[in-house]
Amino acid sequence: MALRLIPLLALLLVAGLAPLVLPAFHVTLLNYIGLYSLVALGLVLLTGIGGMTSFGQAAFVGIGAYASAVLTTQYGLSPWLGLLAGLAITLVVATSLGLLTLRLAGHYLPIGTLAWGLALFYLFGNLPGLGGFGGLQNLPNIELLGWQISGSADFAVLIGLLLAASLWLLDNLLHSRQGRAIRTLKESAGMAEAMGIDTARSRLQVFIIAALLAALSGWLYAHLQRVVNPTPFSVVMGIEYLFMIVLGGVASLWGALLGAALLTLIKQVLQDVLPQLFGHADNVEMIFFGVLVILVLQYARGGLLPVLRSVLPASRPRTLALDDAPALPRRSMPAAGKPLMVAQGLLKQFGGLVANKNMGLSVNAAEVTALIGPNGAGKSTLFNLLSGVLTPNAGQIIFNGQRIEGLSPRAIAHLGVSRTFQHVRLLGEMSVLENVALGAHARGKAGLLRSMLHLERKEEAALLAEATRQIQRVGLGEYLHTPAGSLPLGQQRIVEIARALCSDPLLLLLDEPAAGLRHGEKQALAQLLEQLRGEGLGVLLVEHDMEFVMGLADHIVVMEFGQPLASGTPLQIQQNPAVLAAYLGGVE
Ligand code: ADP
Ligand code: MG
Repeated sequence: MALRLIPLLALLLVAGLAPLVLPAFHVTLLNYIGLYSLVALGLVLLTGIGGMTSFGQAAFVGIGAYASAVLTTQYGLSPWLGLLAGLAITLVVATSLGLLTLRLAGHYLPIGTLAWGLALFYLFGNLPGLGGFGGLQNLPNIELLGWQISGSADFAVLIGLLLAASLWLLDNLLHSRQGRAIRTLKESAGMAEAMGIDTARSRLQVFIIAALLAALSGWLYAHLQRVVNPTPFSVVMGIEYLFMIVLGGVASLWGALLGAALLTLIKQVLQDVLPQLFGHADNVEMIFFGVLVILVLQYARGGLLPVLRSVLPASRPRTLALDDAPALPRRSMPAAGKPLMVAQGLLKQFGGLVANKNMGLSVNAAEVTALIGPNGAGKSTLFNLLSGVLTPNAGQIIFNGQRIEGLSPRAIAHLGVSRTFQHVRLLGEMSVLENVALGAHARGKAGLLRSMLHLERKEEAALLAEATRQIQRVGLGEYLHTPAGSLPLGQQRIVEIARALCSDPLLLLLDEPAAGLRHGEKQALAQLLEQLRGEGLGVLLVEHDMEFVMGLADHIVVMEFGQPLASGTPLQIQQNPAVLAAYLGGVE
C-alpha cells in the first residue's frame, strides 16, 4: 500500500518545490500540464480502459470554466460556489448525454461526442451572458481558509493537490469491485453481464467521472487565467486530449500525466521553432502531432508509459489482509435430486438455420448432466438460451421454480446460474485473482464513492478472500497474481470455473471444460465436479471426451441436428441403438 503512495507524494513534492526553484514561466507550463492531466485522466478511464472514445471532453472543461466565470463575474459569488455549480451542471449534462449516446454502439458514440463538442463550443460563443467569442474577464482569486490562491506558484500547489487526490481516487477505483467491472467494458461486456454485472451502469459512471474531472480542470483553468473564451474548449482541443493519452498510454493513469507533459512540452518547443521554418501560421504543430500519434500507434500501441515502465521497477499489487475476512453469505441449496433447470420445446432459429428445435432437458440439484453431440449439433446455442444470451423463438425454461426464458443474462446470473464459455473469456492482462473476483461481483454492494475512497476494505477483503478460496479449490493457488492470459488454455478454462463458482451458483453451465486439459488435469477436474455435486450443485456440461463424460455424469442428453436424440444414464446411452448408430457410430 505504502509503495503505491510514493509516486503521489513525489508529485506533491514537485508541485510544492517547483515554484521555489523554477522560473515562473516553467511553473506555468507545469500548471498547464497538471490541468491537462486531469482531463486526460478521465479520458484514460473512459477511452483507454472503458473503450469509449470521446472527442468532446473539452466541452466539459468549458462547462466547468464558464459556470464559475459567470457566477463570479456576473453575480459576485464565491469561486467555490462556481465549482459546485460547474460540477452540478456537468453531472446533469453528462448523465443526459450518457443516457442518450452510450447505448449507441460502435462509431455512433465518437460521432455523438463530436456533435456535442461542436454544439457546446458554439453555445459558449453565442449564449447571452457568456461574453460571446471575446469571453469573460477579471475572474477573482480562489480563497481557501485565508490562503489567496493567485499566481502560478499558489496554483501549482492547488493543482498538485487535486491531481494527486484524483490519481488516488481513480487508482482505488480501478482496484475495487466497481473498477473490475469497468475494466471489462472494453472487451468483455458480454462476459461481465453473465457474471451479473450491470455494464450499462458502469459505462455511465465512467462517463460521468471523466466529465467531472474535465469540469474540475476547467474551473482551475478559468481562475488561473482569470479570463475565459470559447477557444480552449473546442473540438480541436478535444482531439488534443485524445492525442495526450495515445502518446502517454491509453490504459494507465500515469500515462495520462506523461502524455499531458509530452504534448505540452513538445508543443512549446515546436511553437518556438516552427514559425521560423514555416513563417507565421496557426497550429502547424498539430501536423507534427498527427504524424507523431500515427508513429506511436504503429510502434508503441500502448503509448510511451509501458515502454518507460519496462525499465522501472514494477509496482506491487495492492494487498489486503484476507485471512480474517468475513465469509460471504451463501444461497440455500435445493434438496438433492430436485429439478433445478427444466427446458421444454425450445426453438432457436438463425435466419433460415434451425439451431435448436423441440429441444428440452432437465438438470437436477446434486447431479452432473452431460450434453453430448457432434459439432454443430446446437449445444452452445442451447447454453446461450439457458443463460439468457439468446432468447428462444419458442419454448420455456424454468429455473428453480421460475420462468426465465427471455430474461437477461444478468438477471439469470442473479438467480444463481453461472457459466463458462467455450471460447475462454478472461481479461488476459488482469491477474487470475481479479478475474475470478469478477464472479463475486453480485455478492458485493460497495458503490462508486466508497470504492474510490477505499472505504470498502472489509467487503473487498471478503470478495478477494472468496476468490482466493475458489482458486485454491480448483488447484491454481500458486497463480493468484499471474496475468490470466499467460496461463495455458486448459488452465484458463479452470480459471473460468473458479470465476463461475465465485458467484455461489446453484447451477453451473460448463461449455467444454476439459478441452485442452492433460489426462491428470482432467482427473482433477472430474474430482472437483464430483465434490461440487456432493455439495448440492447442479452441473450441466458439454464435453467430447467420452471417457470423462461416462465416468462422471449421472445423466446424459444426446443432441443431434438441434434436437434431443436420447437421454438416460451413461449405461443406457452406451447401449442405445440410435445413439450408437448416429453418434458413436462404429466405435464399438
Ligand atoms: P455446437 O456447440 O453443438 O457445436 P452450436 O450451437 O455452436 O453447436 O451451433 C449450432 C448451429 O447453429 C451451427 O450450424 C452454427 O453454425 C449455428 N449458429 C450458432 N450460433 C449462431 C449465430 N449466432 N448465428 C448464426 N448461426 C449460428
Ligand atoms: Mg459448442
